[in-house]
Amino acid sequence: MTVECKDLERILEHENPEEMIALEQHAATCAACGEELRLWKQISEAAPSLRKTWESPDLWPRIHQTLAEESSGSPCPCGVRGGRRGRVSGGLRW
Ligand SMILES: [Zn+2]
Repeated sequence: MTVECKDLERILEHENPEEMIALEQHAATCAACGEELRLWKQISEAAPSLRKTWESPDLWPRIHQTLAEESSGSPCPCGVRGGRRGRVSGGLRW
């Protein structure tokens, strides 16, 4: 399967092993996703209990926002970095 930047959040949410592998492959070529994946792993190791609260829909957007604020370099071409997916896809509609 092919993973795009917009899939990152969904994959990390479900942790499907096959998708995780595909995500790792994408992250190897995408600086922004590589950084997010690295941070996600850090969180996983540092705070396993935190991940259990991911049922809460608020948490990942908050982490995402923190990430976006902390590192302004190498934005994802798809705009995931900006936080809201809809904005970019809407803007690119011909
Ligand atoms: Zn990406």
